[in-house]
Amino acid sequence: MEQIPCLYCGGFFDPSPRHKNQTACQKEKCQKAKKAAWQKYKMETDPVYAANQKSSQQQWIKSKAGYWKRYREKNPEKAERNRILQAARNRKARAPCSDVTMHASLIAKMDALKVNIIKIPVCYP
Ligand SMILES: [Zn+2]
Repeated sequence: MEQIPCLYCGGFFDPSPRHKNQTACQKEKCQKAKKAAWQKYKMETDPVYAANQKSSQQQWIKSKAGYWKRYREKNPEKAERNRILQAARNRKARAPCSDVTMHASLIAKMDALKVNIIKIPVCYP
């Protein structure tokens, strides 16, 4: 049987004859990426599934009271990293359109003679 490309890692693999329309290889990373993509799609398109997920997460949080507080105490470096990323997400949510300063060398332009700083308007949906 002919090998097909994996949508997640780009490598070629032997598809299973039992699974038509197979898109991911057997690597754990690709299987997890495929599942995450499916779940994201399902959350966006199926309100019943989304409601069940939310209710299930709230139930889990209730049954494991203090889990995240203990996690942050055990992993202060991860808590700090999350604090920084959350601040960035909050900024992004507050200002949906802003200029992003970008070094011209980061933009693919082979014939650029000068190094310029370019402001690019960015809008988040
Ligand atoms: Zn793969």
